[in-house]
Amino acid sequence: MEKLEHIGIAVWSLAEAIPRYEQLLGTNCYKTEEVDSEKVRTAFFRQGETKIELLESTTPDGVIAQFIEKRGEGLHHIAFAVTDIRAEMEKKRAAGFQLLSSEPKTGADNKLVCFIHPMSAGGVLVELCADRPAD
Ligand code: ZN
Repeated sequence: MEKLEHIGIAVWSLAEAIPRYEQLLGTNCYKTEEVDSEKVRTAFFRQGETKIELLESTTPDGVIAQFIEKRGEGLHHIAFAVTDIRAEMEKKRAAGFQLLSSEPKTGADNKLVCFIHPMSAGGVLVELCADRPAD
């Protein structure tokens, strides 16, 4: 894995959270994006070499809504950049990590993503993400 790509934070409302994080980070949100496959709306902030991704559920039964109901708003996942996501998934699977999908999925920010179950990663939801190859 390469660098820490971003940190994902679950929030009830982007409208409320964006100005709060703009103040906190001292930087403006540069992009919002809806990811249909994950039923989330995301907002991105650049923070030095890495990014902060705020996640708001677009449905009451989405994974982010469920997460917040159970644990409250807060740290949701950490994402690492990888170059070859399939190779990295295979490596992680072989090492005993439980992947949440057998194939890479389309994530925000034009990335291919795959999540590792927190049960196999010390309680932390880990995202692998790679730039989508130009087609
Ligand atoms: Zn993410």
